[in-house]
Amino acid sequence: MENLIKEPTSKFLKLRCAKCKNEQIVFGKPSTKVNCLVCGKELIESTGGKGKIKASILEVLE
Ligand SMILES: [Zn+2]
Repeated sequence: MENLIKEPTSKFLKLRCAKCKNEQIVFGKPSTKVNCLVCGKELIESTGGKGKIKASILEVLE
């Protein structure tokens, strides 16, 4: 574990797709990229650590 700093991305995030406005809950550190279930646009990209978010964060969930 290199990074023990608590970040919002270590939790579940409610994201809104920038393309179709679909709201979707995703894990902040995904092992693979996560696509919108509605339109297929990439919402979060796996970087090996915290995900790179490509959508609007609506809420951070515990
Ligand atoms: Zn979408």
